[in-house]
Amino acid sequence: MADKKAKCVALFSGGLDSSLAILLMLRQNIDVTALMFLTHFGCDIVDKSSCSQDPEPMSKKFGFTVKMMHLGEKFIDIVRNPKYGHGKNMNPCVDCRILMLSEAKQFMEMTGADFLITGEVLGQRPKSQFRNSMNAVERDADVEGILLRPLCAKLLEPTIPEKEGLVDREQLLDINGRGRKRQMELARKFGLEDYPTPAAGCLLTDKKYSERLRDLMGHQEQINFDDLNLLRVGRHFRFNDDAKMIVGRNEIENDKIERYKEYHDLIFEAKQTGSPIVLLKGVPSDDALEFAARLTARYCDLKHEPEVEITISNGDGERKIKVPPFKNSEEKQFQL
Ligand code: SF4
Repeated sequence: MADKKAKCVALFSGGLDSSLAILLMLRQNIDVTALMFLTHFGCDIVDKSSCSQDPEPMSKKFGFTVKMMHLGEKFIDIVRNPKYGHGKNMNPCVDCRILMLSEAKQFMEMTGADFLITGEVLGQRPKSQFRNSMNAVERDADVEGILLRPLCAKLLEPTIPEKEGLVDREQLLDINGRGRKRQMELARKFGLEDYPTPAAGCLLTDKKYSERLRDLMGHQEQINFDDLNLLRVGRHFRFNDDAKMIVGRNEIENDKIERYKEYHDLIFEAKQTGSPIVLLKGVPSDDALEFAARLTARYCDLKHEPEVEITISNGDGERKIKVPPFKNSEEKQFQL
C-alpha cells in the first residue's frame, strides 16, 4: 500500500449496500465523503415518503462526511428527455446514474479526491443488462477506471486506485446476485444496525405518478417545483389541453393545494358545507369553469342536492355560481 491517505467520494443513498461500500473503505483507512443526491421525485430525506433516512447518526458513528446535493433542473431535463429512455414508467435510471456520477466526478476533482465508489453489486440485475448499462454509464459519465464498486470489485477488472495501491484489492468483496445474506452478515460485523429495507426506487417508478407527470410534461413547457409537488396531491382531471383540475381529498391535501397554487390559479369551494379545495390550472374558459365547479359540487357534502353554490376565487377576488353536481361518475373519463 502507498503511504498517502487516499480520499474517495461515495454515491450514498442511505441504504445498506452504499453504507457497506463506505465502511469497506473506512476499514482501509480511506477518507470518505458521501454524496446524497436529492431530486423532486422522492428518495431523499426531505420527503417523508422517501426510501432514505437521516444519514447523520451513521456518519457520526463511523466517521465520514455527508454532503447533500440537489440535482434540480438538471434532473428534470433528463426526466423530460433521457438519452437512454425511460424504464417501465417515467424513471430515466441509466441517465440518472450518469448524471449522479458526473456530478460526483466534478466534486471529486474539486475536492482533490482520488476515486469514486458505489454500493453496486454484480448480478442484482441480469448480467448483460448490468454490463451494458454500466459500460454506457461509465463511458458517458467519464469515470472509467476511477469508479470502484467495493462489494463486487473482485469480480471486475482492477480499477486505477487498486492498481496504484491506494486500495487493497484483497480486502474488497466478490458479492454476486440478488440475495442479501452476505450484506446482512457484513452489517452485523460492522455494527451497522439501522438501515432501511431496499426501496423500489423514486417516485418516477410509480405508475400513477408517472401518468400525471407525462400529462404535465405533454402540456406545459415550463414546469416549476410547485407543479411537481402538486402531482402528489389529490385527484387530477385533464379537462382539455389548456385546463387541468386538482381536487383535494382531505384537509391536509386542501392545505397543500392552497400552498402550491399560484396567484392567478382559480380556487373552487362550496363554502357552506364540507368541501374539497379544487384548483383550476390553465385557461379558465366558460366550459372549464363549469367543469371545475361541478367537480367541486360532486365531491362536497351536498353532492346529492340538485344544485350547489360554489365560490370561485383567486388573488384578484371572488364570485359565486350555482351548478348541478356530476352524477354517475360522469367526471371519471377525465381523471388521470
Ligand atoms: S429509480 Fe429514480 S432515483 Fe433510482 S436510479 Fe431510477 S431514476 Fe434514479
